[in-house]
Amino acid sequence: MNKFDRVVIGAGFSGLLAAFRAVGRGETVAVFDSATSAGGLIQQVEMPINKGSIKVDSGAESFSIAGAGFERLVNDLGVGDKVAYPSRNDARIVNSSEQKYKIPHGYFGIPASLNDVELDEIISKAALDLARKLDSVSPPKSDELAAMTIAQLVELRLGSEFVDKLVDPVIAGIHGSSARDLNVRATLPALIASFQETGSLTEAASALRGNVDRPGSAVAGYEGGVFRLVEEMTNRLKQMGVHFEFDRVVSDLDEFSNQKITLATSLVAAQKLFKLPSDDSLEAQVDSTLVIASVESNQLNGLPLGSGALVSASSGYMTKATTHLNAKWKWISNDLASNEHLIRFSLGRARRESAIGVADEELFERVRLEASDIYGVSDIRFKSMRTVRWPSALYRPSEEVKNFSAQLQTHAENLGVEVCGSFISGNGLLGIIRDHHERMGNESVKI
Ligand SMILES: Cc1cc2nc3c(=O)[nH]c(=O)nc-3n(C[C@H](O)[C@H](O)[C@H](O)COP(=O)(O)OP(=O)(O)OC[C@H]3O[C@@H](n4cnc5c(N)ncnc54)[C@H](O)[C@@H]3O)c2cc1C
Repeated sequence: MNKFDRVVIGAGFSGLLAAFRAVGRGETVAVFDSATSAGGLIQQVEMPINKGSIKVDSGAESFSIAGAGFERLVNDLGVGDKVAYPSRNDARIVNSSEQKYKIPHGYFGIPASLNDVELDEIISKAALDLARKLDSVSPPKSDELAAMTIAQLVELRLGSEFVDKLVDPVIAGIHGSSARDLNVRATLPALIASFQETGSLTEAASALRGNVDRPGSAVAGYEGGVFRLVEEMTNRLKQMGVHFEFDRVVSDLDEFSNQKITLATSLVAAQKLFKLPSDDSLEAQVDSTLVIASVESNQLNGLPLGSGALVSASSGYMTKATTHLNAKWKWISNDLASNEHLIRFSLGRARRESAIGVADEELFERVRLEASDIYGVSDIRFKSMRTVRWPSALYRPSEEVKNFSAQLQTHAENLGVEVCGSFISGNGLLGIIRDHHERMGNESVKI
């Protein structure tokens, strides 16, 4: 392997972009991954349908298109014609089988205005009146804010109904953890900056959201699934002479003592490879468990929850989020019969009801029980289900993880090793793209 200038460890989205950067600099590159294929948390699952079968994403399925990052990457890759936009982007919050509503305009469930008429259907009048008072008093001091969870800040400024019915379902659906477990400054730094400037949480939400549509709506996918973009990137890298080796666990960096190294693994894998002492905060990462179901239902043809739903913890359901895949993506609905549907359920809540270690059959039973209630349909017939488990896949944003990651980066710099990955850039593909562009400066790699 000594014949390559650079070794990239990890063929997830971060590692693939690092390989493009290296080739762009004229380096010869080898990419190693312990898995059997590229993509990391971008993978596929094959679901049986009337027509035969369809492959859909089993991990990340869309990109945030906030800012210019995604567009620039698409231009660099020349894949603009493959970008797919959701057919519907009107996800709901399910608070109970009776109470389902659209997410009001705002930021992570924090409404941009307390006068939004949609709030009257969601929040009691007494709670709305209280929120108007609470959000007008002077904000807490900076050090008090630094110690607060998202739920504590929202409760302080707007009251607990806003936490339970709006903010917690949105945060749990996006970050996999409850708003009660996440430090607000580490998770939503832009919100804190704007809150300190405006002195009001709703004004901060309004300033950050601007005229952008509802949460989750500013996204794009890829024709046939995001996993196909990974296939495309891998094929192009191969054509550029990049060598890939799968099923290859790297356990010692000394193996590459004469080569440049890019580490694009998880934080725990990076900590082990650098032989750094472990830290308790690393153990607290978030598992993600999905059940993808192929079902038949005429009532679902009316797409009762739009593109899907975020489900509040107080509902008692194990489902914390669900995506009606054929409602969201045309490339999926095109392949299905008129009463055929594909639905993705994200299951389990830390500290309440975990899905980790729960047998597939038990998860399927929960999905069968909860799906009719959540979607409000009675004629749903399950044809097949698949479980996808992603252990410790998402980072719980915290000061501890941030500090450990900073310490690891300093260590890497001293050794001359490049490190990248979502533990540096944050959960999500957009962070990885932005980080890639920062490392590239103004250069553009025509890939
Ligand atoms: C269920 C789910 C849904 C998601 N949905 C979205 C979404 O819709 N939109 C979005 O923006 N983000 C989403 N995310 C987050 C997003 O998928 C990740 O932030 C991103 O894919 C991380 O990419 P990465 O390359 O940094 O890490 P990874 O994808 O984790 O890649 C790391 C790679 O390193 C390899 N590796 C680790 N250790 C070693 C070793 N010792 N030797 C060799 N190889 C090693 C691993 O096998 C892996 O392939 C989702 C995540 C999950 C779990």
